[in-house]
Amino acid sequence: MKNWETYVRRVTPYVPGEQPNQPDMIKLNTNENPYPPAPGVRRALERLDADALRLYPDPACGALVEAIAEHYGLDDSQVFVGVGSDDVLAMIFLTFFNAGKPVFFPDITYSFYDVWADMLRIPYEVKPLDGQLLIRAEDYYGENGGVVFPNPNAPTGILMPLSEIEDILEHNRDVVVVVDEAYIDFGGESALPLIERYDNLLVVQTFSKSRSLAGMRIGYAMGQPKLIGYLNDVKYSFNSYTLNRTALVCGVEAIRDEAYFEETRQKIIATREWTKGELRRLGFSFGDSASNFIFATHESMPAKELFLALKKERIYVRYFEKERIDNYLRISIGTQEEMEALIRFLERALA
Ligand code: PMP
Repeated sequence: MKNWETYVRRVTPYVPGEQPNQPDMIKLNTNENPYPPAPGVRRALERLDADALRLYPDPACGALVEAIAEHYGLDDSQVFVGVGSDDVLAMIFLTFFNAGKPVFFPDITYSFYDVWADMLRIPYEVKPLDGQLLIRAEDYYGENGGVVFPNPNAPTGILMPLSEIEDILEHNRDVVVVVDEAYIDFGGESALPLIERYDNLLVVQTFSKSRSLAGMRIGYAMGQPKLIGYLNDVKYSFNSYTLNRTALVCGVEAIRDEAYFEETRQKIIATREWTKGELRRLGFSFGDSASNFIFATHESMPAKELFLALKKERIYVRYFEKERIDNYLRISIGTQEEMEALIRFLERALA
């Protein structure tokens, strides 16, 4: 081995869901929104001035920060934006999880948390979900270097009531607590109002799911100005121009169109509830999802077999070859027609 190789920052990378590009595929594997972004996004793209691309974008992402702050009734100083919530979360790990004490997160959760922790040499301790795959607030009481969990959790889709989040906050006054709300718009109550009372709380959301902009990469964190200030210091020390000009204008359009947001969100919720009934009828069981996916296991057919059979049919769902969850499929909610096609296939496959 060459000497330089001894000093490589070795990491086991996160494995994103497949992005196949096949005609007629039904893509239910990465929790994208099946509906296009708000009409204003298309109009903004049509108006784009290619000449302006010779200029750097606004490093403060001012217009987008302002639009997000206005939407939630916050001050601009309470909003941080990044290249998807992955970027925002990575910045949070880098900025706040430096105590040398273990950061707490669930054993079954967003599988990027342990990757960032390993990459940044942050110690961590995973807290097993209970038998119903629920987060237990009391597991997060002990001394730690920070706490992070999604609500609803991923890949379970199960929502934690705000009272339990507050319980975790009450027991963690001295560390930064991060609630990753990537899926909160599909039926959950946001922890955002709690930032008034907990100056150590960061609420992270994304434009990738409920605002149909996964391809544009926009995420944000909300919290008290002091937290946001420290995040910005680290961001400017790493890469000051994060969001590009196109993302900034599209993001503003997406957050302003309240009516379109509400319409598509409700359609996804209705399709999810319909899909739950059908999956139950076919012998699946699952925790009650409040997200845009369902994490389901079948009473007799192994998940891996189903996953492969679905893939052959060009229906893509997500399968995790991981202890405790290797008999589950994570099925994103597509359009009503896509979910009907899925159910028709499952009816045949399970007959
Ligand atoms: N948090 C959770 C729980 C997720 O499932 C995802 C989507 N993979 C993200 C954050 C990141 O989403 P994005 O970077 O697209 O905002």
